[in-house]
Amino acid sequence: MKYQMSIFLSILIFLTACQTNEVASSNNLAYAVAWKKTAAEYRALYYQGFNIARQRVEEFVNSSINEVGKPLAIISDLDDTLILSDPYWSYLIKHDLEFFDDSVWDEWVASDQATPSPGALEFLNFCEENNISVFYVTNRNQGDNTREYLVNTLNRLDFPSVDDDHLFVLQESSNKELIQNRIKDDYEVIVMLGDNLNDFSREYYVSDIGERYSLVENKSEKYGSDFILFPNPTDGHWIRAIFGESEPAPTIDNKMLMREATSSSAWRD
Ligand SMILES: [Mg+2]
Repeated sequence: MKYQMSIFLSILIFLTACQTNEVASSNNLAYAVAWKKTAAEYRALYYQGFNIARQRVEEFVNSSINEVGKPLAIISDLDDTLILSDPYWSYLIKHDLEFFDDSVWDEWVASDQATPSPGALEFLNFCEENNISVFYVTNRNQGDNTREYLVNTLNRLDFPSVDDDHLFVLQESSNKELIQNRIKDDYEVIVMLGDNLNDFSREYYVSDIGERYSLVENKSEKYGSDFILFPNPTDGHWIRAIFGESEPAPTIDNKMLMREATSSSAWRD
């Protein structure tokens, strides 16, 4: 009897260990989402970005840098720059989803629960108080309701200048450059804010990891001056550089590809 009990306990411990290992190691997104949800460093990087952006605005307001005489403006992306959607990512983990899920995202957007990123509202209000025009350029696409959902959220969050002249929703294309250039024709753009290199220039829209590295190195002086970059460990065109698409399908092959990308150049076998 004692022997049988011992075998039973061993099997139980083994099964529990297997289950724990499986849960602990199974989801691609776990570390990235944990960082978004719990790291004070994540929040600090937003404050850091908006502090630098504010300093840039103050430099322009207090000096004669703007020799062209155009009105001053800033251009910003929205998701993961001015607004955050951490509960969406938590939902994916909770339901064992390992890749960006378009249908869940659309439901999340419709639920209107996004929050301002740390320091975003203060920075936008500072711009408004100093007569700096704020332009929002986003690639959100939830069909016919895209604009309505977004306007509802931005109004709920008390963001300034939520109107047709300042909010540009590019549903059909990720290319923001056309509208950004139109804004630059009429305004002196002090800074651009984003969480994706494509938020700053279309030249970054390449799908090779090394090429993306080179492009950043070539204009490294622009980061923290013309471009203010915010952290996003869960999605963006860096994902496209790994998988060939920004929203890869949840397949075993893609999971293997992720493992390959993260384990290559390991210091030893
Ligand atoms: Mg974004």
